[in-house]
Amino acid sequence: MNLVLLGPPGSGKGTQATLLGQRLGLVHLASGDLLRRAVEEGTELGRRAKSYMERGVLVPDEVVIGLILAALRGEGRDRGFILDGFPRNLEQAKALDKALRAGGSGVDRAVSLRVAELEVVHRLSGRWTCRRCQAPYNIWSSPPREPGRCDRCGGELYQRPDDQPQTIRKRLEVYLSETAPLADYYRAQGKLVEVDGGGEAGEVMERIVRALGSYVG
Ligand code: AMP
Repeated sequence: MNLVLLGPPGSGKGTQATLLGQRLGLVHLASGDLLRRAVEEGTELGRRAKSYMERGVLVPDEVVIGLILAALRGEGRDRGFILDGFPRNLEQAKALDKALRAGGSGVDRAVSLRVAELEVVHRLSGRWTCRRCQAPYNIWSSPPREPGRCDRCGGELYQRPDDQPQTIRKRLEVYLSETAPLADYYRAQGKLVEVDGGGEAGEVMERIVRALGSYVG
């Protein structure tokens, strides 16, 4: 099964993609994580992406689409995948469909997480991420056992520069104008599954599994 996760920044896509990936045996690919890694490593692609990410706007399609499709060819083809943060606009959704169709598959379901804007801003302002393995924490709802250290790998936790209030507002604007219309794109194909993203992460995951219904057996 191939899943796409939709929802505003801070709606819990990363957390849910990790949980669902484990539960359903799917490869989890996060475009933001791939881009941040490229920036950290100082690759040519990372250098191109950096200033867009700092401003909270979308990295150009020709950079992101190639990156994700290459990662999918490497990992997601046989097991099925769950995409987090991609597609982010209509062009990307169409490019994904085209590439999957060429390989005889497609997106099976697009899960849209609904979370109120105030809640999203609150969550993002408390978010800390592991520099090494990208595991997400939240000082309000899921703090690490030891402040500043990742429970999973012991890596250093940091606050993403684009989680500053000014940039959060920009990212929400970009989400509303460019990404939110994707719900209609998948609804028209009968693939959209809308889920309330509020509350504890485990509960949200159960809601998603229920909403996917017979699709996950
Ligand atoms: P995220 O970790 O998903 O919140 O992404 C962080 C930043 O990476 C975004 O604000 C964008 O600048 C960039 N980014 C991530 N995914 C995409 C995408 N599919 N298309 C364009 N830019 C992206």
